[in-house]
Amino acid sequence: MTVVVKIGTSSITEADGTIKSEAIHKLTSEIAAVIATGQQVVVVSSGAIGAGLPVLGFEQGWPKDSVTLQALSAVGQSRLMALYQRNLDSFGLICGQVLLVPRDFLERAQYLHAQHTLNKLLELGVVPIVNENDAVADDAIRWGDNDRIAALVAHMVRADLLLLLTDIAGVYEADPRSHPDVQIIPEINDMSLLDELVSKAGGAGSSRGSGGMASKLAAARIASWSGVRTVIASADRSQVLADAVAQACDVGTTVVPQPHRLSARKLWLGFAVPPSGIIWVDTGAQRAVVERGASLLSVGVTDHEGDFKAGDTVEVRGPDGETFARGPVEVSAAEIRSLVELHSSEQISSSSLEVIHRDFLAVLPQP
Ligand code: GLU
Repeated sequence: MTVVVKIGTSSITEADGTIKSEAIHKLTSEIAAVIATGQQVVVVSSGAIGAGLPVLGFEQGWPKDSVTLQALSAVGQSRLMALYQRNLDSFGLICGQVLLVPRDFLERAQYLHAQHTLNKLLELGVVPIVNENDAVADDAIRWGDNDRIAALVAHMVRADLLLLLTDIAGVYEADPRSHPDVQIIPEINDMSLLDELVSKAGGAGSSRGSGGMASKLAAARIASWSGVRTVIASADRSQVLADAVAQACDVGTTVVPQPHRLSARKLWLGFAVPPSGIIWVDTGAQRAVVERGASLLSVGVTDHEGDFKAGDTVEVRGPDGETFARGPVEVSAAEIRSLVELHSSEQISSSSLEVIHRDFLAVLPQP
């Protein structure tokens, strides 16, 4: 079995950025234990920016500007790797650093390079340790959260399991800080429940990690559409990795994989970029897209929501209200509004525009 295990900043660094060496020790000893049973493990580790803070005298808080954050990551990343290396060495394991940027998932040649390297590392018995290449990442298109990277890496290495380690025990139906009696949801196998939880989960979970539960659930959705099982659990739980591998029933929340696996490109288009709006279309347009692989034309659009601009990703919903596709729009919300008005005043033929080109439409397989 191949496992991608992601650990967040708040689980491996203190508030002032100091790396929690006991957290790295716990994770690496669990990794060594599952590798000894024949599994392969890829780590996606955050904490580079945090680890740079005390070294450069920023213990009082995170600077706001992106260039300083990039500089901090360059300093913190090497310290983080030194600790992983020291700990894995003590278990007789070798690690290798792989820093990725969004382009590595979007451009086919880059994707294959990264995939071949990760596969070779695994074949050589090395534990790849992945992070975003924060030091040089382009601010406009970088992720800033490793949950999504971990999900796309899980797709890339055809993992069986994505384990997202965080500082709470799993996914709750409501915020456990304000609802103390709320229970963990043990399993999510319904994509619409997942979508609902993503929108309820809101923003970052702590001032240090950037992801929060929303980005974990969004990552679980990517993994699910990649055919990968996800477990969201506490980094502090004893034997969390071995128990997640063994599918023990009391480990956090499991998100069940979909039976179909989307391509990497469609995953990116469909899920890596958060949607900026929704477009509703009529039955004819839905059929043309789903059955004939056609582009989405404005003539089929019945309604929209959100103030998106050309290039933004939107969800596409049919008359039943279910999302059946996603992709980047070629026209803004304002243009769609005037087109929909034109269509309703029956000047259809002169005014139908391509809203999403077929090459960029990620049509979700019907489970
Ligand atoms: N790449 C960032 C770091 O290593 C972490 C992003 C995240 O919080 O997911 O500091």
